Amino acid sequence: MYKYLLIDCDDTILDFGKSERVSIALIMDKYGVKPTSEIVEEYVALNEGYWRKFEKGLISKELLLELRFKEFFQKYGIDVDGKKINQEYLDTLTYNVFVIDGIEDVLKYLKDKGYKLYIITNGVKKTQVSRWNKTNLMQYFDGAFISEDIGYFKPQKEYFDYVIKEIGDNDLTNYLVIGDSISSDIMGGINYKIDVAWFNPKNKLSDVKVNYEFNSLDDYYKYL
Ligand SMILES: [Mg+2]
Repeated sequence: MYKYLLIDCDDTILDFGKSERVSIALIMDKYGVKPTSEIVEEYVALNEGYWRKFEKGLISKELLLELRFKEFFQKYGIDVDGKKINQEYLDTLTYNVFVIDGIEDVLKYLKDKGYKLYIITNGVKKTQVSRWNKTNLMQYFDGAFISEDIGYFKPQKEYFDYVIKEIGDNDLTNYLVIGDSISSDIMGGINYKIDVAWFNPKNKLSDVKVNYEFNSLDDYYKYL
């Protein structure tokens, strides 16, 4: 029986995929690229690649945030100020917040069952906090660990050192990490020897051995 649930934010409780697509389409439109769904997916894949590089320590966050837009628009022959667009994009994101359907009931259920809930996120602090404040969900959490505050990020060991120290219970069997990302949430938990639940609503394939796989929100009720 777990006591603490360490829950990822984007695409685990918030529908980041939807926010991202709506926001990037608005930015593309503004800078002269017609945002067809194909082109939007191009950006999503490019951005995803940058985050993987960041997780492997191959690129700084600052450079990632800037280059993703610079590279994307360059493909369409448009030279942009990546930093400026990044800021506009982050602002747009904070106005386009979507919650995963049914997650509030799940969080309420978990809280009522006595679990302590914490957010673990690699996002940008200002953006994450203003997005959370647009939802009703923060009342269910006992705390949030934002990588930008801590100076380390998932899956780094130091990130989890900080989280465990702050919560103050060294018995790792009391913790469960829940998240949609194999590379950051799940590998972070596994490397730290914490049990993991992979939220995988799109039934993606992975060779990584997880303790639980949640293919829908129903699995929260089934396993927790
Ligand atoms: Mg996520």
